[in-house]
Amino acid sequence: MGCAGAYCRKCSFVKTIGDGDTTSFWHEQWSGGGKLSILFLRLFMLERDKDSTFKDRVQKNGSNLAFSWNWSREPTGRTRSELDRVVELLQSLNFDSSSTDSWCWSFGSSSSRLFKVKDLSVAIDAKLLGNVSSTHPTFHNNFVPKKIEIFMWRALKKRLPVRVELDKRGIDLDSIRCPLCDDDLESVDHSIIFCKYALDIWERLFRWWGLGSFSSYSLPKIISEDSNISASTRGSKIWQVTKWVCAYFIWKNRNNKTFKGKCAIGPVTLSEIQVMSFEWISKRSKLQNFDWLVWLSNPSHYLNTL
Ligand SMILES: [Zn+2]
Repeated sequence: MGCAGAYCRKCSFVKTIGDGDTTSFWHEQWSGGGKLSILFLRLFMLERDKDSTFKDRVQKNGSNLAFSWNWSREPTGRTRSELDRVVELLQSLNFDSSSTDSWCWSFGSSSSRLFKVKDLSVAIDAKLLGNVSSTHPTFHNNFVPKKIEIFMWRALKKRLPVRVELDKRGIDLDSIRCPLCDDDLESVDHSIIFCKYALDIWERLFRWWGLGSFSSYSLPKIISEDSNISASTRGSKIWQVTKWVCAYFIWKNRNNKTFKGKCAIGPVTLSEIQVMSFEWISKRSKLQNFDWLVWLSNPSHYLNTL
């Protein structure tokens, strides 16, 4: 176990007390507050056997606790009040002495706290994406390939090589204006959302879905679930796929224009989004009756897919 018995905020595995036979009473953190050897240092100094286990010190008889202390001298004064707090802590600890001590995964979402790759992945996102991940827990979408998730993550973290970002990193450019419209500086938000060519595609996408106007969208909103759209979990994932694919194609078009002098923005791009998102969703979602013609004419039909 990589934690070597310690439990701290940086540590993913947490010791859970059972019979207490394999847990150090003083050196392992078995409750939320910290290790007793640090929290109650004066009392710890009176302990004769500093490596005693939890079981050496505490036994459970029914709902009552029995303590077996081994002090070099009887605690008095401040050490006595430390002992009172330790007893209080033990009395509030809920543990099942009929089971053995165990480790659980502190990021686990299930009651068993079993280790799950998904929980790890959510925890990594929370670390990388900060608030965005905690307010938008569905950053992951397994209906699209990883490269699309990574692209969205880079866009959100402003790690796309748009001219404003390159300039910030000291790269000398002739211009930091948008290579497509030349109307504004080329930031990530401009490139993916507010450039008139991008807006045109977003408007087409929203019209295709029958979802009204694209106005007032932001990058976090494109990435996240859409709270103002009523949809099932799968339905909102499907809608999210098309938004992500749309952002991805806008970026691809921007690169084509910038590096190859081409600009294919317009109806062609919307069909690319329709085809690509259909292919990915049908392959990856295992949805029954996911129909190409319905997809083209009325994609919102799938918003309530279970
Ligand atoms: Zn532009």
